[in-house]
Amino acid sequence: MTVEQRRALVTAVPGPKSLELAARKAASVANGVGTILPAYIVEAGGGIVVDADGNQLIDFGSGIAVTTVGNAAPAVVRRVTEAVQRFTHTCFMVNPYEGYVEVAEQLAELTPGDHPKKSALFNSGAEAVENAIKIARVATGRSAVVCFDHAYHGRTNLTMALTAKDMPYKHGFGPFASDIYRVPMAYPYRWPGDPDAVAEEAFAQFESLVHVQVGEDQVAAVIIEPIQGEGGFIVPPEGFLPRLAQWCRDNGAVFIADEIQSGFCRTGDWFACDHEGVVPDLITTAKGIAGGLPLAAVTGRAELMDAVHAGGLGGTYGGNPVACAAALGAIEEMRSNDLNARAREIEAIFRTRLGQLAARHPQIGDIRGRGAMMAVELVLPGTKQPDAALTGAVAKACHAKGLVVLTAGSFGNVFRFLPPLSISDELLHEGLDLIDDAFAEVLHD
Ligand SMILES: *Cc1c(COP(=O)(O)O)cnc(C)c1O
Repeated sequence: MTVEQRRALVTAVPGPKSLELAARKAASVANGVGTILPAYIVEAGGGIVVDADGNQLIDFGSGIAVTTVGNAAPAVVRRVTEAVQRFTHTCFMVNPYEGYVEVAEQLAELTPGDHPKKSALFNSGAEAVENAIKIARVATGRSAVVCFDHAYHGRTNLTMALTAKDMPYKHGFGPFASDIYRVPMAYPYRWPGDPDAVAEEAFAQFESLVHVQVGEDQVAAVIIEPIQGEGGFIVPPEGFLPRLAQWCRDNGAVFIADEIQSGFCRTGDWFACDHEGVVPDLITTAKGIAGGLPLAAVTGRAELMDAVHAGGLGGTYGGNPVACAAALGAIEEMRSNDLNARAREIEAIFRTRLGQLAARHPQIGDIRGRGAMMAVELVLPGTKQPDAALTGAVAKACHAKGLVVLTAGSFGNVFRFLPPLSISDELLHEGLDLIDDAFAEVLHD
């Protein structure tokens, strides 16, 4: 690792070089493409990102859960360097190559369930979700898709229809794809009914809404993030996912787990579904799969995947050889460094420290998540009213102190922590100290 594992601020964040780049961005990049922390990065590794002014920032974001194995992880760099020197592209549909097949073999081995599985590779998470829906529709001969409140599945037309949040993801971009039905999510902190029966009540609502508004035999697929990402790291209570999976089996629908954010060691298991032994029919992956290179996949029951006619799946770049080499490198890092165990250690540190923070700040209404996918939800003290303003102010204070943190949640009031699993305990604690300082500064206590 070439990047020194130390936070260092040599200018304000962003500094003068970043501000110069931000001015060039404003002149040439569409405003719709925003930046959360406009410190322009020149190098990164371990738990540190280095900006153009030489500031070394602690990374609690992993580029949105992508660099789970760390930035420029050694096995990723080695395999990518080797691959990129041999060939950069042929299009797998024109002249195939081994790396694509090897990634599919790894996906069959690592994803939940020991049934025969096949995969198809794509470029982005949204593209994987689109294709999972295409496969489910062909395989079932049905068209309805059921999704959930607070869901995020991407920004293409079909995936915007599946995504719950209007601003900024959908606003003005309609009309959206049809035959999509949204049902309540089992969201323990905000469940309006019996707090001890969230799984049962939410499942009863799902069952009833589908029966009345869709018809069981019309449902091609039920799609859910086993832990919701952009929605604010909402962890459904035990029993909810198994009930949905069983309902799909009973009714001939395809159960799709969107593990694009929660997959690949992020939650302390290879996939979040593993926690309760849930076996999805199809699983979508992207983000953490390839250490930062663009790659995504749909993996699932061989008979479902093979329901699609020859030529029905693909794309020019899907499963690019360099991206496949990166995925094999990332999986090598995950295995050889036991990153599932590391994610569980990170959870323990976060739970202790966030618990201490919450004891001092009644604004922290909920602490939740799993593994290195942890979050706090901020509310007005004594209520559950979301406090997006406080969330934004604390995030800004963290950024100025050299900590990359991300927000999330339908109400914009969730801090989500997604450190790379290559981060040291020292940097984790220092980052948590900075969050503590940021709360104190913003709340003037
Ligand atoms: C990020 C994300 C997507 C979309 O992935 P892109 O690569 O940005 O298209 C879909 N589903 C989930 C759960 C995600 O977190």
